[in-house]
Amino acid sequence: MSNRFIDLYSDTKTKPTPGMRKAMAEAEVGDEQKFEDPTVNRLREKVCALLGKEDAVFLPSGTMANQIAIRVHCRPGEEIICDRTAHIITSEGGGPGANSGVMFHPLDGLNGIYTAAMAEAAIKDPNNRYSPLSRLLEIEQTSNRGGGSLWPLETIQAVGEVAKRRGLKLHMDGARLPNACVKSGIKASAYAAPCDTLWIDFTKGLGAPVGAVLAGPKDFIHQSWRVKQQLGGSMRQSGIIAAAGLYAIEHHWDRLAEDHANARKLSEGLANIRGIEIDPDAMPTNLVFFDVTKPGWTAPKLMAAMKEHGVGIGAFGPKTVRVVTHLDVTSDDIDTALKTFSKVLAA
Ligand SMILES: *Cc1c(COP(=O)(O)O)cnc(C)c1O
Repeated sequence: MSNRFIDLYSDTKTKPTPGMRKAMAEAEVGDEQKFEDPTVNRLREKVCALLGKEDAVFLPSGTMANQIAIRVHCRPGEEIICDRTAHIITSEGGGPGANSGVMFHPLDGLNGIYTAAMAEAAIKDPNNRYSPLSRLLEIEQTSNRGGGSLWPLETIQAVGEVAKRRGLKLHMDGARLPNACVKSGIKASAYAAPCDTLWIDFTKGLGAPVGAVLAGPKDFIHQSWRVKQQLGGSMRQSGIIAAAGLYAIEHHWDRLAEDHANARKLSEGLANIRGIEIDPDAMPTNLVFFDVTKPGWTAPKLMAAMKEHGVGIGAFGPKTVRVVTHLDVTSDDIDTALKTFSKVLAA
């Protein structure tokens, strides 16, 4: 057994592989914001094909993709309807308020997933000037704080139908859309079809060091370029990082199944450890949440103790821990991590 630090804190902890670094080093480049970077253009075209959308723009991060989409879809004072746990509410620094002046109507979904009926009931009458104008429905595939849960295709279709009928847009935060596709066997373009706009992240399970691509109709992407410029997100010879994204789609997409198998092994193992409460069936992909129930222990205390023993985990509240499998975590690492959890919690 090696003494290597096993980092289960997040799937953002991956390091670029030698193959990815080689692709980056050899990338043909140009001025991205003048459409002169051939590698960026190839990545944009590839993602358009993958998601079945007209146009796409390469961005430094998924957060910027969400911020741009919100700014293009909404005017100040308008409202976004999404799950209470959505990344755009919990984890983007208040960006939707700061950048776009929008309001939120949070829904109490199940594991981050709400129903079309819940969305419909939340939409305000546009003729009532006292309430905000409901402009955007937002979903997260997979749902991060929902435990990597999958939005069923039929639910996305039903939510998309509500959006269309009531004159709203539907935006998907697809940070982990590839995980959903690999888990369900459903194509990314099928999940994308009911959505007006969406993006995928290259820095989660796909294992690239930087970058996301936002896709949608031509006019939406045209407007997105202006907001990208305003936010300082336009790049130059970014083919070097786009090459990592291309490499990730080709080499790291299908292997996400390994991460899901490792996560399942981890959650089943955790279920057998005293002082932990977990429902393995609630977490179908690579995100594993559990509660620390051992008297006198908290999630931050467990996190500190595990770190001393060479395993990184995340505290998501006083009792709640998140552990994540990814490219740099092997099946043997899961065995080591489980032994470490047992040892630490037995102490
Ligand atoms: C990580 C994440 C983001 C943000 O992506 P970055 O590339 O880290 O900015 C957005 N939404 C969800 C669900 C995420 O997990």
